[in-house]
Amino acid sequence: RAPDYIRAIAPYQAGKPISELAREMGLDEAAIVKLASNENPLGLPPKARAALEAALSDLARYPDGNGFALKAAIAERFAVTQDQVLLGNGSNDILELVARTFLRPGDSVVFSEYAFAVYPLVTQATGARAIEVKARDYGHDLDAMLAAIEPSTRLVFIANPNNPTGTLIKPGALLEFLEAVPEDVLVVLDEAYTEYLAPELRADVIGFLARFPNLLVSRTFSKAYGLAGLRVGFALASAAIVGMINRVRQPFNVNSLAQAAAVAALDDADFLARAVALNRQGMAQLTEALARLDLPYIPSFANFVTFHVGDAAALNSYFLRHGVIVRPLASYNMKNSLRVSIGLEEENARFIEVLEAALR
Ligand code: PMP
Repeated sequence: RAPDYIRAIAPYQAGKPISELAREMGLDEAAIVKLASNENPLGLPPKARAALEAALSDLARYPDGNGFALKAAIAERFAVTQDQVLLGNGSNDILELVARTFLRPGDSVVFSEYAFAVYPLVTQATGARAIEVKARDYGHDLDAMLAAIEPSTRLVFIANPNNPTGTLIKPGALLEFLEAVPEDVLVVLDEAYTEYLAPELRADVIGFLARFPNLLVSRTFSKAYGLAGLRVGFALASAAIVGMINRVRQPFNVNSLAQAAAVAALDDADFLARAVALNRQGMAQLTEALARLDLPYIPSFANFVTFHVGDAAALNSYFLRHGVIVRPLASYNMKNSLRVSIGLEEENARFIEVLEAALR
């Protein structure tokens, strides 16, 4: 029998495969527009595609269990040492590894209302207690989060920008927070969407790492780098923290294809720049339409935008019937809101067209 704290977990609701949805709705699979998972609409970076082809010949061998080449590339890019880099099977794996390494029943974890859904999951799976702090304007209320830290608190999760709200904590506020957090509490700064930020909005996390030994920064190749299906994430932290987590990590948690593609993606500056530029244009396209249609939305710093409607469940099924997949947020307790990812211009246009039709 699973422990009560496992039985109490609300299962993560994954979306249906497109093929299944197409069958159910009687739609042509190719006509379906998927704007539900904050993926990169440009697809694979060209350099990653070439690296994947080259890596195929080695697939009968185990991956490099230490991810040497990828860690070296990340260390060089971010000016840290290789023992400060941790690799994960997506950044979800990083979040889970952190929880498994540092939490036990009786501990507590602080995170915000409307913060990324995986924080409560990985917390509860260890038997630790979640302390969910009320959001302010849909974003992190850092003062309230600080005040919520208890003697039993071992971890704080912060998503910046946050999913599903797209809200941002400015670098100055983040720094003040880090200065105030007790040293024996690990702050997990989840920066899955950081590449989309204008440089002046990006915190100097490498500088922060040198100052705060209780900081771990989590990043992913799933968003701006376009490798969501390969599952690669990484964390930057002190060598002591990384060393501790590596004791818990499975040796082959990042497969060979993922490692090869990530090294190449890191080197594909053109692709990254195109992805970020496309996102900026698409964000303008979607938010202009939402404003024109009088639908309030949460200003977003990521690759998606969350907007509010009267009956989100009904609008969501209208979208599905017309082959547009967006993300309902009822599981986040935002039952009047939908989240739409920024797609290609024509995908955004299709979303807007169906939205207009639904509101007529
Ligand atoms: N953190 C945040 C805030 C996210 O939105 C996501 C993806 N939805 C992740 C982490 C995990 O992404 P991945 O496991 O693909 O790296």
